[in-house]
Amino acid sequence: MRTLLLALHADLTGKVPAKIEPNRTDDARIGGDEDEQPLNEMMQAIASSRNRNTDGVLARVMKALGKLRNDPDSFGECEECGDELPYGRLKAVPYVEFCVDCQGKKDKPKGGPTRRKLTDYT
Ligand SMILES: [Zn+2]
Repeated sequence: MRTLLLALHADLTGKVPAKIEPNRTDDARIGGDEDEQPLNEMMQAIASSRNRNTDGVLARVMKALGKLRNDPDSFGECEECGDELPYGRLKAVPYVEFCVDCQGKKDKPKGGPTRRKLTDYT
């Protein structure tokens, strides 16, 4: 997962993430095979996210990288409810912050008349 994020970061910034992970190039030479496929999927994710908000994506990638480094246990958990994120979702969007449920709530804010029990999650 870290490899995905680093590659994503590199692509977004246009730089090799040497400052973050100096050993990255060695990894790519020695054991890169396993990363090939996820990387392809990720490039598609990048391509689609580019159309939206590159800065926002980069910020989330940076955040995810920081989390991965400082608090790896919490990486891959929804920031809202703490549920583990499905691996498929993480693989497609390595910097994802919320599970499908919480993301859905965020995508349609101000819930309208049908108010959900958001307070139950605090
Ligand atoms: Zn959640």
